[in-house]
Amino acid sequence: MLIVMQAGATNADVRRVVETIESLGLKAHPMPGANRTAIGITGNQGAVDPSPFADLPGVGECVRVTRPYKLVSRELKHDKTVIKVGDAEIGGDVAIIGGVCAVESREQTMLTAQVVAEMGCRWFRGGAFKPRTSPYAFQGLAEEGLKILSDVRDQFGLRIVTEAVDEPALDLVERYADVIQIGTRNMQNFSLLKRAGQARKPVLLKRGMSSTLEEFLLAAEYIMSEGNYQVILCERGVRTFSNHSRFTPDLSVIPAVQHLSHLPIIFDPSHSTGKRETVIPLARAGVAVGADGLLVDVHPYPERALCDGPQALLFDMFRDMVAQVRAIAEIVKRHSEAHSAGAAVK
Ligand code: PEP
Ligand code: MN
Repeated sequence: MLIVMQAGATNADVRRVVETIESLGLKAHPMPGANRTAIGITGNQGAVDPSPFADLPGVGECVRVTRPYKLVSRELKHDKTVIKVGDAEIGGDVAIIGGVCAVESREQTMLTAQVVAEMGCRWFRGGAFKPRTSPYAFQGLAEEGLKILSDVRDQFGLRIVTEAVDEPALDLVERYADVIQIGTRNMQNFSLLKRAGQARKPVLLKRGMSSTLEEFLLAAEYIMSEGNYQVILCERGVRTFSNHSRFTPDLSVIPAVQHLSHLPIIFDPSHSTGKRETVIPLARAGVAVGADGLLVDVHPYPERALCDGPQALLFDMFRDMVAQVRAIAEIVKRHSEAHSAGAAVK
């Protein structure tokens, strides 16, 4: 059930509805929109009886939500959600999150951050905790890596996106990062999703490599149902019979998500393809289909990378990609924040 307030409803009207929902042992999720506030109700097992709300002041209508997910749905919030960290946004202009796959050393990370900042990008990615297929592979620098990322923020003004692989890691990531990344292998780790929902920082949720659109949106619903409404979705390729690339980028999920949900969705051409030479063409395609941003691996010397070297762009390739993506963003009537090249360099 969702309660749509009238355009002229006051804060006191909204509060009254919220209190009424809570008095029934249910959870209220007020979502202010451009014109009206909608209030989602969760915690109910069966259908919610609208009669306690129907006559409260300011209430417009009580609407049954027909989808299994509620808070992520456009039925609840028609206007697109824009995630803001300071003056950097995801969900407005096309956002480019460039950086290293794994933070391997201060030098490798700083060199990469310099290039990302010089291109006018506002966001930096880098894993301090790495989910690896082999237990013997490099697992990340953990808190030492987070400290390096914090220095990237101080030195270049870039906002930090980094993965939390489990709950103890999330406690640390929440302290150091600007955006908490939940990886593909954890998309249905429900206790981790709930913990991310209790965090007060935006969450970047990557699609499970074998998950359907509905499973993806329900994973986001887990985070939102705990009260964290700042969720960014990320398509990163799915498993198919096709074996010429690491995964198969499912670009058609981007407009499908945008139709069903108000949440922003970005695209990761690096993990999708696994090959440096296919990253730029797919990045172009991602922006062309309307992705709200890109998440891209870059490395100063990928032949020596400890993680995902074959998919990391060289610096000149990254510069090229940003230029190409900017041009495409203009054509599809979006701007790329990378517009103001150099603006973010402090
Ligand atoms: C990553 O972005 O570093 C990563 C591990 O990606 P994924 O979870 O999509 O494999
Ligand atoms: Mn990687």
